[in-house]
Amino acid sequence: MAKICLCLTAATIQRNLEILNKYRQYTDIAELRVDCLESDERLYIRRFPELAGLPVILTIRRTVDGGYYTGGEGARVKLLARGLAYANADSRFNFAYVDIEDDFDVPSLEEAARTFGTRIIRSFHSVNGVIDNIPAKIKSMQRSGDEIIKVAFAVNSANDVLHVLQSSKTAAKTDKIVICMGYYGIYSRILAEKFNSFLTYSRALSECEISGAPGQLDVKELAELYRFRTINKKTKIYGLVGYPIKSSVSPWFFNTIFKIENTDAVYVPFPADSINDLLDVAEEMNVQGLSVTVPHKESVLKRLAGRSTDVRSIGACNTIYRNNSSWYGENTDCAGFSESLLEFINKKNLKRQKVTIIGAGGAARAVASEIFRLGGQALILNRTAHKAKNIASQYNFRWGGLDSQGLEKIPKYSNIIIQTTSAGMEGHDSTDPLEMYNFTGKETVMDLIYTPPETPFLKRAAASGCRTINGYSMVIRQACLQYVRFTGKEIPRQILSMINTTGVNTWNKTPAN
Ligand code: NAP
Repeated sequence: MAKICLCLTAATIQRNLEILNKYRQYTDIAELRVDCLESDERLYIRRFPELAGLPVILTIRRTVDGGYYTGGEGARVKLLARGLAYANADSRFNFAYVDIEDDFDVPSLEEAARTFGTRIIRSFHSVNGVIDNIPAKIKSMQRSGDEIIKVAFAVNSANDVLHVLQSSKTAAKTDKIVICMGYYGIYSRILAEKFNSFLTYSRALSECEISGAPGQLDVKELAELYRFRTINKKTKIYGLVGYPIKSSVSPWFFNTIFKIENTDAVYVPFPADSINDLLDVAEEMNVQGLSVTVPHKESVLKRLAGRSTDVRSIGACNTIYRNNSSWYGENTDCAGFSESLLEFINKKNLKRQKVTIIGAGGAARAVASEIFRLGGQALILNRTAHKAKNIASQYNFRWGGLDSQGLEKIPKYSNIIIQTTSAGMEGHDSTDPLEMYNFTGKETVMDLIYTPPETPFLKRAAASGCRTINGYSMVIRQACLQYVRFTGKEIPRQILSMINTTGVNTWNKTPAN
């Protein structure tokens, strides 16, 4: 099964050892990135494998390949030779692997490595994107049977990832390392086993050292949250598709349940700006189910073979699952929203409640349909006014733009104000979409956003004396429904108590690069 490699990028040997010791339990192989060491420290690399006490890769990455080594090639060869010199008959005291690039051509050094059992990782880094014929490239790189071929591509779309994934299946069945670098390739690092990769590179994110390569995940998160070491060819895959995905409670929620239930399944972030491209990847990987978030809740409809009544009536979908290789869509935002709001206001319905909805995207569609179903009346205000009109006309609600004319209508719809735009959400602009409105303090105010826990909008409402609630309770409720839909199982009680007691700070954030 694929191994976890901890990429060590500190400036000193001592610091690298401290980091390794702290994360040793999550590490199968360490990579000493000599290009990140201070020049004096590079004199002492030879003893590193002995001090590390586990298999180590010796790497001196050039800037052209995305590393930090700026010296000449002659000096780099000498450094590599220093790392491999005085080989010990006990191979545990030698570097287990040496990473040398495809265009590196010093046969004597390679021969010395082989003689003492150091395996060659022959690498190719394409920092400007994918190349056409990846299997041919892999074949051309192999110089002897015991080498590991490493290909790393900067990917700029789900389509690029698909190309790498398909190539990894058709390439020669030798040991190889396949990496999709960057934000769009994050899931390829978690699902290395599905990419037929010998290992995945990770880093110790909280140690604040420089990044080894774009998109590397935190080693602890990889091992504990995603249970990397249990992922095998049969592991069922679920995930979250959106763009950008900066922070979401869903990976923590689903993976924690899979762990509690000992289910052979994993839930990963799938950042993608094209839902079509991502669904092609999902089909290639046999993904079973996806949570759908901003901005794909409406655009995903085109790919659905079947839709629930909710999805049909509101025109937005946040949950898709596969059945006989076709996608089916449901909307769990509806129930998640109404259960959360009704509990907060301690009512069974919204009769006689006048509500203002800010926003007219996918989430607003779910909110409007629930307010209508529960007997409330609403005003919908959106930056792009015609979208508010489209939704409002379905329920005989009022509508307007997010301008002075629209704002004048709010006092008549101010029992509850619900913020459904992405303004204020982490990774989006941090504006207050209702900044021109002065809260009276009597409104009940809900913001669907939960990262950050308090948006500028919600903070202002609370400061004006309003009762406020963010979207955390809603997201958990809708995720519970998704879990049941995806797996056909009940939510374990244990997770509910963990949510109640541990709350929003327990879960992970997806690295930005
Ligand atoms: P969406 O379909 O992409 O719609 C985005 C909406 O935000 C549109 O109405 C858009 O207006 C508006 N908007 C974006 N930036 C704005 C700005 N700077 N000022 C004013 N309006 C702005 O997204 P969505 O799926 O509806 O999701 C919206 C938000 O709800 C997200 O933050 C999402 O995380 C949250 N949400 C939370 C839950 C939960 O369970 N807690 C569930 C669903 C959604 P235009 O039409 O003018 O572009």
